[in-house]
Amino acid sequence: MKNVALITGSSRGIGAAAAQLLAENGWSVCVNCIERDDLARELCDKLRAAGHEAMYYKADVADREAVAAMVRAVERELGYVTLLVNNAGVARQQQFQDIDAATWKRLFDVNLGGCFNCTQAVLPHMLHEHAGSIVNVSSIWGQHGASCEVTYSSTKHAIIGLTRSLAAELAPSGIRVNCVAPGVIDTEMVQVLGQETLDMLAGEIPLGRLGRPEEIAAAIAYLACDATYATGQVLTLDGGFVN
Ligand code: NAD
Repeated sequence: MKNVALITGSSRGIGAAAAQLLAENGWSVCVNCIERDDLARELCDKLRAAGHEAMYYKADVADREAVAAMVRAVERELGYVTLLVNNAGVARQQQFQDIDAATWKRLFDVNLGGCFNCTQAVLPHMLHEHAGSIVNVSSIWGQHGASCEVTYSSTKHAIIGLTRSLAAELAPSGIRVNCVAPGVIDTEMVQVLGQETLDMLAGEIPLGRLGRPEEIAAAIAYLACDATYATGQVLTLDGGFVN
């Protein structure tokens, strides 16, 4: 069976690092994003120039029809998806009483709904083949409470629940479902915090620095490719930040 990976939210950051590493490991990859498709195209061009098979598809993971169209396009161009990395995510820092219903809904629609839509779209073939792997991207704030990030933290807790429950349901069908829980990783997402706060956070992390996207990508590839007896697991990568 051909190794085909769909990595959502992979124009930059953790997703881009995962697409790059998986391509280097011989996977045909679909890069997906909702914005900055110039970056996604650039990444695809770079992967193709290095001799890897890569395609790009712009779709909002919260949009079920767009996700279904994306998966059909991947099947046409690369083949059936055998690895799904549910990485696309958005964060928002605000006090609980300031959260409006639209923001609450949007974060759930993207972070959790995206996992639901993408997983349901790729599952028929995985079930048919009795094989496949899904890696979800949660957060340490899916394992611990986060002040001023109640919405984000709630979506990331839910992703861990989804991972564990789906792993139990799909194990008899030969499909593994695992999850990574990154700490503070040096990507565009955390730039909103400002350099001063990031320096302060780095000082509080026992390893003394933020994580690199490549370090999370390595864990995603490990769960997807090497950890063949692991399912329903959450792998925390946070430099020792929360114990
Ligand atoms: P990022 O903001 O650098 O990249 C996010 C990517 O997701 C982009 O490619 C963006 O286009 C895409 N995206 C956003 N909304 C989308 C949507 N609706 N549909 C499709 N694509 C969409 O973020 P990152 O730091 O690389 O984060 C990747 C994942 O890792 C997220 O799920 C995030 O919650 C999680 N995470 C990040 C950190 C961190 O410190 N950076 C920590 C823990 C977990």
